[in-house]
Amino acid sequence: MNEILRMSMNEMAEADFDCSCGRHHSLPIKKIAIGKGVINQLPEVAAAFKGKQVYMISDNNTWKAAGEKANRMMTEAGFEIKNYIFERGKEILIPDELAIGRMLLEMPLDTALIVSVGSGTLNDMAKYLSSRTGVPYIIVCTAPSMDGYVADGAPLICNGQKISYVATLAYGVVGDTDIMKAAPMHMIHAGLGDVLGKLTALTDWSLAVAMIHEYRCDTCVKLVEEALQKCITNAPLLKERNEEAILYLIEALTLTGVTMAIVGVSRPASGSEHLLSHYWEMDFIARHKYPELHGIKVGIATPIVAEIYELLKDDLPAETKALVPRREFVEKLLRSAGAMISPKEVGIERELFYRSLMEANTVRKRYSVFQYAKDQGRLEEVAEIITERIYGK
Ligand SMILES: [Zn+2]
Ligand SMILES: [Zn+2]
Repeated sequence: MNEILRMSMNEMAEADFDCSCGRHHSLPIKKIAIGKGVINQLPEVAAAFKGKQVYMISDNNTWKAAGEKANRMMTEAGFEIKNYIFERGKEILIPDELAIGRMLLEMPLDTALIVSVGSGTLNDMAKYLSSRTGVPYIIVCTAPSMDGYVADGAPLICNGQKISYVATLAYGVVGDTDIMKAAPMHMIHAGLGDVLGKLTALTDWSLAVAMIHEYRCDTCVKLVEEALQKCITNAPLLKERNEEAILYLIEALTLTGVTMAIVGVSRPASGSEHLLSHYWEMDFIARHKYPELHGIKVGIATPIVAEIYELLKDDLPAETKALVPRREFVEKLLRSAGAMISPKEVGIERELFYRSLMEANTVRKRYSVFQYAKDQGRLEEVAEIITERIYGK
C-alpha cells in the first residue's frame, strides 16, 4: 500500500499500486530521468526506438541549451534523427495554428518517436502532435518553469484564444539540472511561482473536501507537501542557481504532475491561484497583450489567495484553517528568489484586478475559495479590501 511514498522521483515511472485512498493508481510514463548530467541517459531512455526514425523539435534557444548535445548523442548511438528547429528572434514562440501546422508538415512519414527539447510551449505542441498521431514523445526539459512536463493537457492558441486540448502523457521525461540551472532566471522564477501555488491549491482541496465532500488522495497530498517543503527551504538559493535548489524545484514540479496523472484530477496542482492566473491570461490574450509566463502569474496570485483565506479565517473548517499559508510568508519566499510579487508588475490594472477577484469562480466549474467567499456573502468585501491594499483607495 502506498509504496510510492518510499520511491525516488526516477523510480516512479510505471508506478502501479493500490492506494490507501481506496483507488488503484498507475502512472503510464515509462521513463523518468531527473538529476545532474542525466542528458547522457537520453539514448538509454529512448532505447526502444533505436534504428527507427526520430523527429526532434527545438527552437534556436533550446537547440543551443540542449538540442545540439541531444542530437549528437542520439546520432552517435545509432538513432535516425530529423531535426526541426523553430527560429525565433526576440519574439516568444506562440503555440498556434501556424506553429503546430509547421511542426506537422516537417514530421517524417515513418516517425516512431518525437523528442521535444524545450519547456512549456514546445512541450505543449509536441504532446498535442503525439496525441493526434499516436507517436510517443520524450521531453528534454530545458527550464524548471512549470509543472506541465508530466501532464496530459496541452494549452494551445487557436483563433487567438487559449484552449486546453486533451493530449497525452510523455513516454519519457529527461530533466538535467546542469541544463536547467542555466535557464533564464525569469523561467526559474516562474517555476517557483507554479510550485508555491500548490500551497493554496492544497488548501482549496481541503476546503472542497470539507464543504462539498470531494474525493481526495492523502498519499498524493503527502507527496506534494514533502516536495513543496524541500523546494521552499531551498528557494532563497535559486537566485544563485544552486544545483540542489534547482533539483528540488524540478522535482516538485514533476511530482505534482505525477500526482495529477495518478489521481486523474488537477487538484494537487491547481486551485484558486490558477483560476486568477487564467482569468488574467485570457484578458491579456483577448487584448493582444503579452500574457507573461504561466508560473509568474501563479506566483503573484498565490499570496493574494492566501490573503483571501486569511480574511475568511474565522469561519473556515478546522482542517482547512490549519493549512492556510500566510500571505507575507509566500511573498517573502518569492522575494527571496528575486521573483515578482505584485500584479502591478505584470501590467494588471486596478479594474481588471478587482473584476478578476469577483469573477475568477466562473473560469472553471470547480469549488474554490472564491465560491466559498461568494456563498458566505463576503466576496465583494474581500475583493475591495485586497484591491485597496494593492492599488490604494
Ligand atoms: Zn500551473
Ligand atoms: Zn490514492
